[in-house]
Amino acid sequence: MSKAFDLNRLLRPSISNLKPYSSARDEYTGSVNDMILLDANESPFDTGVNRYPDPRQRQLKEVISGLKGVSRGNILLGNGSDEVLDLLFRAFCEPGVDNCITLPPTYGMYKVLAGINNVENREVLLSNGFQPEVPGIEKAIDDRSKLLFVCSPNNPTGNTMDAGTIRTLLKRFEGIVVMDEAYIDFTETNSWLNELGDFENLVVVQTLSKAHGMAGIRLGICYASAAIIDVLNRIKAPYNVNELTIARAIEGLRDTGYFQERLSMINSEKKQMQEKLDEIEFIEEVFPSEANFLLIRVDDANLRYDQLIEKGVVVRNRHGQPLCENTLRITIGTPEENYRLIQILQTI
Ligand SMILES: *Cc1c(COP(=O)(O)O)cnc(C)c1O
Repeated sequence: MSKAFDLNRLLRPSISNLKPYSSARDEYTGSVNDMILLDANESPFDTGVNRYPDPRQRQLKEVISGLKGVSRGNILLGNGSDEVLDLLFRAFCEPGVDNCITLPPTYGMYKVLAGINNVENREVLLSNGFQPEVPGIEKAIDDRSKLLFVCSPNNPTGNTMDAGTIRTLLKRFEGIVVMDEAYIDFTETNSWLNELGDFENLVVVQTLSKAHGMAGIRLGICYASAAIIDVLNRIKAPYNVNELTIARAIEGLRDTGYFQERLSMINSEKKQMQEKLDEIEFIEEVFPSEANFLLIRVDDANLRYDQLIEKGVVVRNRHGQPLCENTLRITIGTPEENYRLIQILQTI
C-alpha cells in the first residue's frame, strides 16, 4: 500500500535544508538589454560569449515547453542526461545509506553514477522478454530505496516497457521512478510525460543526443513536479548549460521539418537493416527495436566484433551483459554506412 507522497521524507536531509548559491544572474533577473552589467565580474568586451548564460535557461525552456506541452516550471536542463541523473542521486540518495534499483540489461551509467555517489545499486534482472519483474523489484525495495531507473525504450534491448507494469511500480514504489526516454522519438509508444500530472513520484528524462542529432552540445532534459524541479534547481551548478549549447539547441529544436526528415530516414533504414541482417547466416536473432539501433545475437560476439573492427566498422559488443550473451548492438547509420556494413557482414 502506498503512503501519501512526501518529498521531504525522500530527500537527503542536507538537501532539504540547503540554501543555494545565488549567482549574479539569479539576483538581477530584469532585462539586461539597456543595462550596464557590472555585477558578475565578466569581461565587458564583446567576444560573443563574454556574458554568463541564463542560469534558468528561460528562452530554451520556452521552446521545449511549446514542443512538449509541459510548463517551464516542470523542466530542468542539464549538461546531458548524465548530469540530470547525477543530480537525482545527489538530491535523494544519502551516500552509504540509501540505495537505488536498476533493471539490467540496461544503460550502464545508472550503475556508474551509483558507484560515484557511493549508493548501493540493487540489480533486478529483466525477464526473458526484457520486461520488469514486479515481484523481484518489490523484494529488492526497502525503506532506504530512493530511486528506480526504468529505461524505455531500453538500451541495449530496444523494447519499450509494458505500461501496466510501470503504472504498478509508480503506484507501489514510494521512491522516485525515473523513466529514461532517450529513445522516445523512435517509438509510437506514448511518452510518460503525459502522466506527470498523475504521479508525484514520476521523473522523465530525455535528451537531444539521439533523435535530435545534437550529442555534441550535451543537453539533457528532466521533467517532473514543480516541487522536484525546484529541488534540482537548488543543487545544480548555476551555469550548468552553456551559451553555445542554449543557442544551438533553440535553433535545432525549431527546425522540426529537418528533424522529422531524419527520423523517417532512420526508421526506414532500420526496417531494411532488420531484413538484411536476418539473412546473414551467422546472425541468429535480430531483436525487435523501438530505438535507433538493433540488437543482434550472433554465433560468437567477440569474434564477429573483432572481424568488424578489422574491416573498419565499430559496433557495441554487449556480450557479458546479463541476458545478452553473444549480442552486438548496431546503431543505424546513413544509408551508405548501412549498405557498407551489410556488404562486410556478407563477406566475413
Ligand atoms: C544515450 C543515452 C542517454 C543520453 O545521455 P546524454 O548524456 O544526454 O548524452 C541517456 N540514457 C540512455 C539510456 C541512453 O542510451
